[in-house]
Amino acid sequence: MFSIETHKESALKKSVFGHFFHRNGISCAYNALKILPVYYNSALHPYLLKAMESSINNALTAIPQNLERQFVETLTAICQAHIFVPVGYNELEYLSKVQKIAFGLPQIRLLVLHMTDYCDLCCRYCFIEGGITPAYCRRNMAASVMKRSVDKFGQIIKGRSFPKPPAIVYYGGEPLANWKILKCCLEYVKYRQSIRALPQRIDQILITNGTLVTTEIARELKKHGVMVSVSLDGPKSIHDRNRVYRNGRGSFNRTMKGFNALKQCGIRPTVSCVLGKESTERASEIIHWLLDELGVRALGFNHVSIIPDVNEYDPEYEARFGDAVIKAQEIIQAGYPHVYERRMNHKINCFLERTIIRADCTGCGEQMSVSPDGKIGICQGYMGSRKTFNGDVEDASYLPAEDPVFVEWAQRSPLNMPQCFECAALATCGGGCPRNADLTNGSIWKVDSAFCHFARKAQEWMIWLKYEKR
Ligand code: SF4
Ligand code: SF4
Repeated sequence: MFSIETHKESALKKSVFGHFFHRNGISCAYNALKILPVYYNSALHPYLLKAMESSINNALTAIPQNLERQFVETLTAICQAHIFVPVGYNELEYLSKVQKIAFGLPQIRLLVLHMTDYCDLCCRYCFIEGGITPAYCRRNMAASVMKRSVDKFGQIIKGRSFPKPPAIVYYGGEPLANWKILKCCLEYVKYRQSIRALPQRIDQILITNGTLVTTEIARELKKHGVMVSVSLDGPKSIHDRNRVYRNGRGSFNRTMKGFNALKQCGIRPTVSCVLGKESTERASEIIHWLLDELGVRALGFNHVSIIPDVNEYDPEYEARFGDAVIKAQEIIQAGYPHVYERRMNHKINCFLERTIIRADCTGCGEQMSVSPDGKIGICQGYMGSRKTFNGDVEDASYLPAEDPVFVEWAQRSPLNMPQCFECAALATCGGGCPRNADLTNGSIWKVDSAFCHFARKAQEWMIWLKYEKR
C-alpha cells in the first residue's frame, strides 16, 4: 500500500495508463487499464504534478495550508490507483497478467448463418453489397448446408459454458429472401434441441430490413421465440435517403409494414439504426421518433462502414457520429431509463462495473459465419472476397478454434495492441471493427480510426457521468 511518508523523497512518474481530465474546476486522474478514476479539486493539480516531477516534499512545501489535507488524500488515492508510480515500476507487467487471463483460443458461441446473398434492397452504404464483385456467384443457402452448419455449431458448443448464451443469428443479404430454409432451420434447431444435440437455451436472432415480413412470418418467428432486429434509420425522410430499392425508391413504407406486423404478433423488435453522414445532426429527432412514436425499447446506433472507393474514412463524420450517439444517450438517460442503446450502454455498464471490454467485434473469438454455399469464416464484411473464410461445413475435421485466422482474431484487442496502451479508452474501447481497420489502415492489428473518435469521446463522457453519479 502506498504511503506518502515512505515516498516523500523518491521520484514518481505517471503510469503509461495514467490520464488527466479537467472540467469546471474538477479534475480526474484516471487509470485506463484498471478503469479507476480519482476525482479532485483542480486547484490541487499543479501541486500533484510538482509531487510527481520533483518530489512530494517539494510539493508539500509549496502548497497553501488550506489545501494540504486534500492534497495528501488525493495524492495517496492517485498512487494507490497506480496512476502515479515509483520511477522504477514496470506497469506493463500488470498488463501482461491481464493479457494472460483475458485471451486464449476462440470460444465460439455465435453462429451467423447467411441465409442468402440476395437482398431486395440496395442500401447505399451496405458493406456486404459493397464487397461483392461482379464475378461473385450469389445463391440461397440450401437445406443441406443449413443442417450441416447447425450440426457443426452444436458439436463446437457441446458441453461448454459461456458468459452469454449461445446464439444463432440469421443474416444475409436479406435472410427473409430465403424464408423457406430459414423456417426449416427454426424447426431443425427445435429438433436438435429435443435430441440434446443443441442446448435448451439458445438465442435466435433475425437481422432484417423488415420489408418482407408478413403476418405469417411474424407468427412463425414469435412461435419460435426469435428475437428480431429491424434496420430502420429514422422517420421516412431520413430512412429513405439510403435504404432504397434498386430503382432508388425508398423502403420506409414496406419496412414499417413489416415492423408493425411483428408488433401485432407480439414481438418487440429492436432497431438497428445507421446514423449516416446526413443524419448525425438529426440524432435528437431520430431518437425521439424511435422511442415516442414506435415505442422502441432496445436499439443500436451504427456508423457507416468503410467500403473502399464508396465510403472512405472521414474524420469529420466520425467526430459528428460520436457526438450524436452521446447526445442520444443523454436524451435516453434524461427521460427513458428503461431504454437500452447497445453501443453506449454496454460501455457504460462495463465502465461503472470496472469490467474490461476485450473486443467489440464478436468475430474476435466468439463468432463463426457460414456463407450460403457453406464456407466457414469470421466476418460477414468479407463475404464478397471470402477473406477469413477458410473452412467448409462439408469438412468434418475443420474446427474454427484450430484455424490460425480464428486464433489470430481471438487475440485482436486494444489490450494486445501497443499503439493503444497509452489511450485513455484502452479498457473500455473494444477496438471497433477489425475489418474497418484492415480496409483503412492495412491490417486488423492497426486501429479502426473511425471508431477511435467515438471510443475516446465516450470515455471522457463516462468519466464525468461517474462523477455526477457519485
Ligand atoms: S470485423 Fe467484426 S465488427 Fe467488423 S464487420 Fe466484421 S464482424 Fe462486424
Ligand atoms: S482503438 Fe483507438 S480508441 Fe480504442 S484503445 Fe486503441 S487508440 Fe484508443
